[in-house]
Amino acid sequence: MSKASCAGLPKSVDPYKLAEQHSTLEGEIPLSALSRFREAVSEVSEDAVCSVTLSFYMDGERRRIVSGELKAPVILECQRCMGDMQVTLTSEFTLGLVTSDEQAQRLPKDLEPFLTDDFSADLWSMVEDELLLVLPPFPLHNRSECPAKEDLEALEPKVESEAEKAPAKENPFSVLADLKKSKH
Ligand SMILES: [Zn+2]
Repeated sequence: MSKASCAGLPKSVDPYKLAEQHSTLEGEIPLSALSRFREAVSEVSEDAVCSVTLSFYMDGERRRIVSGELKAPVILECQRCMGDMQVTLTSEFTLGLVTSDEQAQRLPKDLEPFLTDDFSADLWSMVEDELLLVLPPFPLHNRSECPAKEDLEALEPKVESEAEKAPAKENPFSVLADLKKSKH
């Protein structure tokens, strides 16, 4: 099993060093290696990968930042017809690298914290978190493409209203009224 992994994204890096060097990493992660993600989707094919680009840099406040883009084709289960649906998950994100909760709380609101050790970050776990965030909680085919569409139309309610079916009640006094009239 010596599959060339020249395009593989490194799993563990020193993100602080990368930020000081303003480095960009580009690579792929096999989706089958992301166990939390694999459990959340109905199917992950052996060769499906998540393509990732990560840029590490320091902002004006000397905060260490990683901004990234990812793209992953997945198969989800449509919650209407329970059939497979092909979806390409994409995400763009910007994270502030922190080594403690205290640092995380000092980040500006528009920066999500990413907690790391002093000299290493698990990039695969970072990407997996972002993938789980963009996973639709209730995936559905477009209505026109969903095989369950016809079934749904057949189930449309066609119940006649009870009021229309009920016979008009006879007014007991109408008989009396007729009798009075006939006396004239
Ligand atoms: Zn469907």
